[in-house]
Amino acid sequence: MAQLVLLPGKERQLARHHPWIFAAAVDRLEGRPRAGDTVEVVAANGRPLAKAGWSPESKIRARVWTFDTQEIVDDAFFKRRVQAAVERRLLLPELCEQEGLRLLHGESDGLPGVIADRYGDTVVLQLTAAGADKWRPALVRALQRATGCARIYERSDSDVRRLEGLLPVAGWLLGEASPTPLSIVENDVRMRVDIVAGHKTGFYLDQRDNRLLTRVLASGRRTLNCFCYSGGFSLQALAGGASEVLSIDSSGPALATAAENLALNPQLDASRAEWREADVFNELRLLKGRGERFDLIILDPPKFAPSAAHAERAAHAYRDINVFGFRLLSPGGLLMSYSCSGGISREHFQEIVADAAISAGREARILRRLTAPADHPVRLNFSEGEYLKGLLCQAD
Ligand code: SAH
Repeated sequence: MAQLVLLPGKERQLARHHPWIFAAAVDRLEGRPRAGDTVEVVAANGRPLAKAGWSPESKIRARVWTFDTQEIVDDAFFKRRVQAAVERRLLLPELCEQEGLRLLHGESDGLPGVIADRYGDTVVLQLTAAGADKWRPALVRALQRATGCARIYERSDSDVRRLEGLLPVAGWLLGEASPTPLSIVENDVRMRVDIVAGHKTGFYLDQRDNRLLTRVLASGRRTLNCFCYSGGFSLQALAGGASEVLSIDSSGPALATAAENLALNPQLDASRAEWREADVFNELRLLKGRGERFDLIILDPPKFAPSAAHAERAAHAYRDINVFGFRLLSPGGLLMSYSCSGGISREHFQEIVADAAISAGREARILRRLTAPADHPVRLNFSEGEYLKGLLCQAD
């Protein structure tokens, strides 16, 4: 096995079990591994530290599979890791009953670069690192064994693969498309999941709990859902008895799915829903100009800052929409504001929202800090895993 030798002192991060080895920490490579091969990571003094997947093209030069230097990374390793992750999802009652569930959450499940989401009997696999890409067959076998799923679809077409020198890949790894369109029931609401053309693996499972919270809060409230995608928050707000729900997204296909989702749920009062294809930044300004007010506003924008390098520009964008959010809130109104940017910390996000309230001339307080549900665990030494940060605020 090839050896990746670290510079003196650079073993400290690894001693804390952070799973990434950056190019700047590497002294030299001994041997000639191919992209994705498993390499042994050793300290400058030759002490073995970990085994990791080799990513020659990425700034994150290797991702740790195991800190147990005796453990062998083979098919059985992936079988164990996948089985443990699937069993973890059975620990909490609120996860057991979900048809849509994240089964493998990358680094936090000890599987860097591996995402797997289950929608009913279909699993969608996304591989985003060279090491993960190499173990595709083992992961498919392990997933099939641990879940008994009939279908596994690959959606490895995320932009981050480019940083690893990997081409986009998508297609069926096991079974084939079901003749009926795929949908799941999430907290009593049926939602279409477009695993082929939808965002991410087809659905934003990470907002499940927060969508449910919307339902609890929406009763009698005029609701504005910005960046609505397929309407998850909107439909839960309707289920909770919102008086009206205006949903905005710039994507026509997303809004078409949202309208379809509403039709799939005849228990909801469709006359209270309006979908608007628009740019949120413009539309918020127009709504303000018209003197509109809302009692509940959801701001769930896309990732403005994929990494710390984009943080400053992203902060401006977050600030802009939150200023308008606060301006549009009725007295006593509720704002649910999110950031899923890895490059913006929870503390930074709170500062941005606080600044926005000041600029909007509103006094507000945090009622709850919001995050992703337990099927998106965060490994203790991998704070990057907590990418979704939200605040539920009430304005005076
Ligand atoms: N809240 C959604 C997920 C939102 S994803 C859920 O619970 O499922 C972010 C969405 O923002 C995408 O649907 C994307 O089409 C939309 N979007 C991105 N930029 C936008 C913009 N400037 N104006 C309006 N929508 C935008």
